[in-house]
Amino acid sequence: MRWVNLGPAAKTVASRSSLGSLSTRMIIAPKIRGFICTTAHPEGCAKHVAEQIAVVKSRGLIENGPKRVLVIGSSTGYGLSSRIAAAFGSNAATFGVFFERPGEADRAATAGWYNTRAFEQEAAAAGLYARSINGDAFSNEIKSEVIAAIKADLGQIDLVIYSLASPRRTDPNTGEVYKSVLKPIGSSYTNKNLNTTTGVVNEVTIEPAEGDDIRQTVAVMGGEDWELWTDALMEAGVLAEGVQTLAYSYIGPEVTWPIYKNGTIGRAKEDLERVQRALDAKLAPIHGKAWVSVNKALVTQASSAIPVVPLYISLLYKVMKAEGTHEDCIEQMDRLLRDRLYNGKPQPDEAGRIRVDDWEMAPQVQKLVGERWEDVNTENFTTLGDFAGYQSSFLRLFGFGLEGVDYAADTDPAVGIPSLEK
Ligand code: NAD
Repeated sequence: MRWVNLGPAAKTVASRSSLGSLSTRMIIAPKIRGFICTTAHPEGCAKHVAEQIAVVKSRGLIENGPKRVLVIGSSTGYGLSSRIAAAFGSNAATFGVFFERPGEADRAATAGWYNTRAFEQEAAAAGLYARSINGDAFSNEIKSEVIAAIKADLGQIDLVIYSLASPRRTDPNTGEVYKSVLKPIGSSYTNKNLNTTTGVVNEVTIEPAEGDDIRQTVAVMGGEDWELWTDALMEAGVLAEGVQTLAYSYIGPEVTWPIYKNGTIGRAKEDLERVQRALDAKLAPIHGKAWVSVNKALVTQASSAIPVVPLYISLLYKVMKAEGTHEDCIEQMDRLLRDRLYNGKPQPDEAGRIRVDDWEMAPQVQKLVGERWEDVNTENFTTLGDFAGYQSSFLRLFGFGLEGVDYAADTDPAVGIPSLEK
């Protein structure tokens, strides 16, 4: 069986509307290429953002929450949810930095573009300040632009969230382009894998890192750029007394360790922890604090690219939904701010990390997932795992499959982000 059955609409990616060639309106359907969807739906993304806002609002205001927040990597996944949780949980003014492609008359924008448009519209309706900057966060230019904007509009920032996920980074000083790879270290790794295009559970073998794969992955996904951001913000005097800064990590179960925790990406995450300690020392004069938060495995644009992980996530979702402990990015980020960072009980582990992956890593959850991992195959993956949930989460990232959205209607792909149009 094929795990994605989107019907004929999926083939008609972007048909011109009957309004004629001058119209910029068209029908947008999902177009999936391996682990990415190359289209996104503006109204669907707006609905996805609105649903996340509703989750946060239903939980009430976060007492003593942050008031001026900078989110680096704010347009999708954990960064978007962090921005929503801060704005709608704490009435925070937010700056968002991201790298997204706007739409054109006949081409959909990336999902993060539409998400940010919707976020800004909702923020404006709620009377909340929101300003966005679209560009390469790794560059010196974007850092300067953000600092100038903070100085002009807010003066200082109370919380900086670093949530970038990128396959490459251009070194702002040398111009070297680093490429991040997802590989085991030392020896090859063979395990079960779901081919998300064919719906076949087979084995995948990933060859070990070679050459300077580790150095390059650490340069992209490690802590160097987080430190450069913090240095630049601190030097410019835009970090408030008592500022907190967060970067996100993942550990996960042993079955994924060769490709994640003990692989090239794991080395990058270790580097984040090195930088967290360095930032603690640098922020001490202003009584600031740096954190690494270990988050739950969730379907995002970044995680769907990691071999083995989509199969693990599907098994995990099934167990956690049955247990009533399943969370999506928004519940995770709301809990992080509300129950850890701003209630005086961050509950760090022995390495000083915040653990909102606690429910994922609960022994009874991991035991069941581990047993099902042994048994899962092409015939039973839809019953042992929550593949419908995986599929629907994946499509929702791009604004598809949301209730109440008329996907058969023409829509304008070239809509703008209010703060970028000023
Ligand atoms: P994502 O792909 O959904 O978001 C990445 C964000 O980074 C987007 O806003 C994108 O625009 C931005 N970005 C990428 N390159 C950029 C650049 N050059 N300049 C400016 N912005 C850029 O990813 P995500 O899954 O939310 O990951 C965010 C962090 O959370 C990562 O550190 C990831 O390792 C971590 N994390 C993810 C999971 C998971 O399961 N998804 C679990 C734990 C931790």
